[in-house]
Formats: sequence, structure tokens, C-alpha cells
Amino acid sequence: MGMNDAKKYLRPEVMPTPFCPGCGHGILMHCILIAIDELNLDFDRMVFVSGIGCAAWIPSPHFAADTLHTTHGRPVAYATGVKLYRPELDVVVISGDGDLVSIGGNHLIHAARRDINLTVIMANNKVYGMTGGQMASTTPHGCITSTTPGGNPERDFDTCRLVLAAGAGYVARQTVAAPKDLIAVIKGALEFERFSFTEVMTNCPTQFGRMNQVPVPADMIEALKNSAVKGGRKELLTKPLPEGKFYVGRFA
Ligand code: SF4
Repeated sequence: MGMNDAKKYLRPEVMPTPFCPGCGHGILMHCILIAIDELNLDFDRMVFVSGIGCAAWIPSPHFAADTLHTTHGRPVAYATGVKLYRPELDVVVISGDGDLVSIGGNHLIHAARRDINLTVIMANNKVYGMTGGQMASTTPHGCITSTTPGGNPERDFDTCRLVLAAGAGYVARQTVAAPKDLIAVIKGALEFERFSFTEVMTNCPTQFGRMNQVPVPADMIEALKNSAVKGGRKELLTKPLPEGKFYVGRFA
């Protein structure tokens, strides 16, 4: 599906997107729409829920579907309400790492524990992008942010491991540097009938790249390719990787 075909899913009045040039969120938005198109899902029977942050702009205002743009950290709670009230609808949460695991982590783990039939897609750019480049719980150790100018002294969450431990039946991670693999895991998540969690490693050249000496978007994409290591559940849980590397694949 090319960009012209994708336009049938988008509200023309809100284009172009508000994303910075070179932001990975545009790639992710296109991959989600391709996955929906290839599965031939009924856009009119889907509800997209997001919180606050750059990734939260992916569905709302762009998608020509029912969208809920909610408060910071709470999209999973809102989505749970939608699913309880209208269980026949496909409810998809699309938001960022700052929103879903840094602020809204408690909602995320309890939705996984309850096994609510939601599709959660988390864009991880390792920082609070829209609100000023502050350190998030996903910022890797040592990285520079606007609130850690000397380098992040803390370790970051591995959100896939966290959600897996909470009981999610579908857990996967991919990067915007591998669109075909990304579309495949999003399709798997959309087809999964219980709680699913997909983490998408993406690039924020404006807030993260500039602070960490990778200001050129193409170099950030290359860095994502070089950091991704294929693995499954066993590797994720038993074989720690060196700092800067992460597993991609399906873990549950
Ligand atoms: S601040 Fe970062 S995440 Fe937000 S739109 Fe710009 S590049 Fe993308």
C-alpha cells in the first residue's frame, strides 16, 4: 500500500503531520495503516486511543476513525472503558513510552494482568519528546537528556519483560528501521484476541538525537538497525545483551 492508498485512512484537513522532519512516527503511522489494510479490517469498527506526547498524535487527529485523545498516562484506562462498554469494537491504543510506561505504567501492567482484549502499540523514542526532551523511564543509562545533562544515572525499563511478567499473551518488539518486520508484528497483534503489547523502537532526532550526537535521522535509523538483535522469549529472559543492544522478535 503506497502513500496514496494510505490517504483513504487519513483526514486530509490535518495533513501534513506535525512530526519533525525525520521523525520515526511517520513510518510507524504508515506501517499501522498498511497492517490494517492488509488484514482488511473495518476502520469504522475500530477505536483508537492515545494519551499525550508526539506518538499520541499518530491516530488523533490523523485517522479518519473514532479516536480518543486522552490525558497523560491514561490511554489504557480509557481504552478499557471503551472495550467494556462496546466489546464488539477493536480497541487499539497507540502512544509513546513516556505516556504508556513512565506515567501510565500501572494501567499498562494491570491491563496485561487482566488480559483485556486491547491492542497496545508503544512507540519508544527513549525520551519525553513533545514536552521538552526530559529523561523517561525508558532512557538508557548514560544518555543525555534535558534533565540529565551529565548522563542518565539510572537504568531503563525493558517494557517487554515487564508486560510479559504481568501476563500478556502477545508481546513483541520491532523497529521503524525494519518496516516489513514491523508490519508483521502489528498484524499479529491486531489479530490476537486477548491483550497484546507491541513495542516499536523509533527515532526522535530533535530531542534525543541532537543531545546524544546522532542528529541526522538516517544515522539514527542505521543505529536502530545495528542495535537490534533477533531473539525470542528465551533470549529475552535469559541472555542479557550489552548496553545499547535490544532484542527484536515475538516474545509471547
Ligand atoms: S520531538 Fe521527536 S518524537 Fe516529537 S515529533 Fe519531533 S522528532 Fe518526533
